[in-house]
Amino acid sequence: MENQKKTRILIIYTGGTIGMVETPDGLQPFDFSHLMDNVPKISKLGYEIESVQFPQPIDSSNMNPTYWNMIVKDIADRYEEFDGFVVLHGTDTMAYTASALAFMLRNLRKPVVITGSQLPIGAVREDGTENLISAVEVAGAKDENGDPIIQEVVISFQDYIIRGCRSTKFTSTGFEAFHSFNYPSLGAIDLHIVYNEPYLLRHDTKLPLEPFYNMDPNILVMWLYPGITEDVVKAQLATKGIKAVVLRTFGAGNAPTEQWFLNAISDAVKNGLIIYNVTQCLNGGAESKRYYTGDMLTKAGVISGYDITVEAAVTKLMYLIGSGYTKEQITDYLQTSIVGELSD
Ligand code: ASP
Repeated sequence: MENQKKTRILIIYTGGTIGMVETPDGLQPFDFSHLMDNVPKISKLGYEIESVQFPQPIDSSNMNPTYWNMIVKDIADRYEEFDGFVVLHGTDTMAYTASALAFMLRNLRKPVVITGSQLPIGAVREDGTENLISAVEVAGAKDENGDPIIQEVVISFQDYIIRGCRSTKFTSTGFEAFHSFNYPSLGAIDLHIVYNEPYLLRHDTKLPLEPFYNMDPNILVMWLYPGITEDVVKAQLATKGIKAVVLRTFGAGNAPTEQWFLNAISDAVKNGLIIYNVTQCLNGGAESKRYYTGDMLTKAGVISGYDITVEAAVTKLMYLIGSGYTKEQITDYLQTSIVGELSD
């Protein structure tokens, strides 16, 4: 027992409320040592914990692909050294980062557990301490064969562990800030941490981790609403440099059938834009064949996103376009699951 190797966890601190401190100008990111000083009981887990932090921790509203590359590199560079990774991150864009990392960490077989908090560690009443401790415990959890229980990117927050690329932040005030509306949670954080084994991601092959660093940010999200005008639609579709559009449609993937609208969409597709149908509803998905209004979009060349979240749709497009796939390949990938982001 004595000689048994200790579980090793790398914590990557990017910023966010979890490590912020109160200043006269409001909450501001602070450094990692402040955060760990406030959680001495983490040592009781018996893990060997190391940490790295962004040179300048950020509010996650400033998150972007350059920062994603930094997180991916931190994990890839030390992948063999650690059993699991915890990413401390602001909640505001956590679901985007969780989705982006799921695509960028190709062939991931170890836990990457993202967490943060709604109130800073060190505040009198807060959620950060428990979230951090649970995340570290999840990152170190192994099955009876010694394999990691989690082999994908997840968010561990308050009472649940959810798949990263299925997550959405749905409240700015509640402690249970994240939800997976279209896929069961992967675990419950109760008295014990109980994993929902049939739903955990498993891969057939054991290829080495292949980090990806070329997310293409030239994506537009176009949100439909009753009364949207031709000028507004055309101006957005004419945005310089965009390569793909996430079209936020109504209900089961429906959109207006006015001729000007359908023409604008099919002209954009003919001009090479990829248009991805993602419903505005949090639960359910685009079933574009169900209604005439949705079918018209398919006929105009729009690709159905089924039950994908907008966060996963945006980052999947960044990933696929950045990978240099052909339009045909991208069309196929958009309709199939790569890392469990949609039910195909
Ligand atoms: N604005 C903060 C951030 O996302 C909010 C949080 O951490 O909850 O960095």
